[in-house]
Amino acid sequence: SPDFIQLGSSHAALVQPDTKPKGCAGCNRKIKDRYLLKALDKYWHEDCLKCACCDCRLGEVGSTLYTKANLILCRRDYLRLFGVTGNCAACSKLIPAFEMVMRAKDNVYHLDCFACQLCNQRFCVGDKFFLKNNMILCQTDYEEGLMKEGYAPQVR
Ligand SMILES: [Zn+2]
Ligand SMILES: [Zn+2]
Ligand SMILES: [Zn+2]
Ligand SMILES: [Zn+2]
Repeated sequence: SPDFIQLGSSHAALVQPDTKPKGCAGCNRKIKDRYLLKALDKYWHEDCLKCACCDCRLGEVGSTLYTKANLILCRRDYLRLFGVTGNCAACSKLIPAFEMVMRAKDNVYHLDCFACQLCNQRFCVGDKFFLKNNMILCQTDYEEGLMKEGYAPQVR
């Protein structure tokens, strides 16, 4: 279920006003221009249809705009705010694109989720961690696991 509307050229369109003047959904003033900009089933001054974050104009015919939570956004800001990086490999919830993530091989993790999945130990820069059966493990748990399986690390 998409929670945004992507408008293509067929949606952000210049239309001829009919007899009744329309109010602009941006500034609430009447639109007296020769053409109206129609987007999201509302009418706009060309200058009033802009990104709520960076103020860039979205009024050009054919421009793509995104809306969510009553915000109108340009593609860049939409992705920054509401895009997703992927699912956290530990808690399997979505990770928003603006959040910092930890990566291990092909997996991404919330910062908070990146810990040994057996003892919850957090890792600092330089700490060793291991991926086994897609689980993050600290060195201790990894080596214990190996020993249980009978593959004791070789001691030289
Ligand atoms: Zn306006
Ligand atoms: Zn923007
Ligand atoms: Zn997570
Ligand atoms: Zn551990």
